[in-house]
Amino acid sequence: MPTDPYTWIEKSLTTIHRADWYRSVQTIHSRPGATVLLTGQEVINFASNDYLGLAGDERLMTAAIAAIQEFGAGSTGSRLLSGHRELHRKLEQAIASLKQTEDAVIFSSGYLANLGAITALVGKRDLILSDQYNHSSLKNGAILSGAAVIEYPHCDVAALKTQLIQQRQNYRRCLIITDSVFSMDGDLCPLPTLLDLADEFSSMLLVDEAHATGVLGKTGAGCVEYFGCTGRQLIQIGTLSKALGSLGGYVAGSASLIDFLRNRAPSWIYTTALSPADTAAALAAIRTLQQEPQRLTKLRRNIDYLKNLIHEQLPNLKLLPSESPILCLQLTSATVALNAAKQLRDAGIFAPAIRPPTVPTSRIRISVMATHQPVHIEKLVAALNNIS
Ligand code: PMP
Repeated sequence: MPTDPYTWIEKSLTTIHRADWYRSVQTIHSRPGATVLLTGQEVINFASNDYLGLAGDERLMTAAIAAIQEFGAGSTGSRLLSGHRELHRKLEQAIASLKQTEDAVIFSSGYLANLGAITALVGKRDLILSDQYNHSSLKNGAILSGAAVIEYPHCDVAALKTQLIQQRQNYRRCLIITDSVFSMDGDLCPLPTLLDLADEFSSMLLVDEAHATGVLGKTGAGCVEYFGCTGRQLIQIGTLSKALGSLGGYVAGSASLIDFLRNRAPSWIYTTALSPADTAAALAAIRTLQQEPQRLTKLRRNIDYLKNLIHEQLPNLKLLPSESPILCLQLTSATVALNAAKQLRDAGIFAPAIRPPTVPTSRIRISVMATHQPVHIEKLVAALNNIS
């Protein structure tokens, strides 16, 4: 009698529950914003990647509606077949202009941009050196590429250099991959040193600017701009779904890199082109960012205000080092983190608990937005103060 091949799924779910690792969705019933309606309760929103508050901006919504009216709801095919519209190209040019690169190509998500770029750039005869805290899309892109993958300790440039000395000559190509802003910690990669090491060891460097685009640098171009590395040779990936308030991903870099990806990145070639609405919204977001650089100043001011209040009023809480809008309070266990998130929620604050296996240590993850008012930040700190 054959055994049921699916019973392991129930068992696995039980294990996930027992470890307090079970995840479920929470429903928002309103437009994105600094406050949202979360399952019937008005909460102050510290859980969103909408750093500049653009996802609910009238200009983005109007652009998306106009694009739907002109081009329809779907793009109907892949870019190389029937899916390409002039809007896609305009968005790519706007991204290249923001990043000051020769060209850019858009993908249907940031995740797919990472999968596509990494699998196109390296294969079986190559080496990937990957920061241990990299986002899932970088890690899975690395596995999918078939290259040898070595993880180096988080932001440890000495350990990375040792690997380059020992391993580089054994492989055809080498690709160093890293988040620029680490998504679950909020700290920055040591970009200038990584670029120097990449040059010294004839290696390519790919940085994921998902949480830095529209956030860091004078014009919001990202970590590359923040560190004064604009114009240096590297591969920049990002998303249109966080500070740019829409959906989609991109790769920006040299004209030949982008041309190559259009011919070799499977997650670009074999998927339907980004919808007209998402494309138009992202384009409107870049224009808005360029017209309203004060949003970046406001975001910076809010981050500094929250950090200062935490240092002054909550000295016993462990705030992980961060230069970004992602501020994490480290807690002792998944249960403590879940309990803290619940107490915050009861106080009208939406800030999620992030637990293993997503991160090594449990934490409350706070995302600051340009559209938070000082009173929102003060209420968060008061609620954190009351957590038992
Ligand atoms: N890279 C990083 C660092 C991210 O945090 C995310 C989103 N969580 C992605 C890539 C994927 O981007 P997208 O949501 O556009 O697929």
